[in-house]
Amino acid sequence: MQLKRYLELTADDLNVEYHVHTKQTDGQSTIAEILETAQARGLAAIAITEHVRKDTTWFPEFAADVRAAAQGFQNLVVYVGCETKALDTAGTLDISGDIRARCDLVLGSVHRFPSESAGYLDWDQLYDTAFARTEYELALGLLTSARIDVLAHPGGMYQRRRKQPFPEDYLRNIMMISVKTAVAIEINTSYLRDVDGFLKLCAAVNPYVSIGSDAHTLEAIGQCRNVLRSKKVGRA
Ligand SMILES: [Zn+2]
Ligand SMILES: [Zn+2]
Repeated sequence: MQLKRYLELTADDLNVEYHVHTKQTDGQSTIAEILETAQARGLAAIAITEHVRKDTTWFPEFAADVRAAAQGFQNLVVYVGCETKALDTAGTLDISGDIRARCDLVLGSVHRFPSESAGYLDWDQLYDTAFARTEYELALGLLTSARIDVLAHPGGMYQRRRKQPFPEDYLRNIMMISVKTAVAIEINTSYLRDVDGFLKLCAAVNPYVSIGSDAHTLEAIGQCRNVLRSKKVGRA
């Protein structure tokens, strides 16, 4: 699915929610509840983006359930998506070909930091600089080598755990690579420690962008749209 560049966004393009989890994994709501909420909030489109791994077996049935439920919502465009993590800095994804083939939208995420010894690094043991650099390198692999549509929550692990903005140079480079690869960068205000700084960079570099709240509750659906509207993002 091809997304637009930041400066091409219209007010209508903001009216979407492209990062949602259901009860199938760690979200709290059913597919029907989520679609009803999206419709009630006037969203034009939504993507259900469940966590998947290579060995996930429930996805075909789940994707069919999403598409069946969507039939009841004529004014809402419903996409089947997934969120999958980077397994290394070469862009290897934790996803099967079968799952990918069933998705309209694939989010690639940095969730864990793989270590040399096939385990994961303990991020509490990393200096801030090493933490940020490791997350950046994993994100670069996703952007340049993985078949994804969106880099989800760039710098998100760092911002959540270290409670400060992701280094601006890293963000700028990530956005510049998006311009070349046409992989979208997620604007996800639930992770950003400096929303205005991030949007300013978006305006300067003009990457491809996706809008998602990483909603795990009904309350969170459309939250990122609301923040962007309040900041007057998007052309009239
Ligand atoms: Zn994630
Ligand atoms: Zn997520």
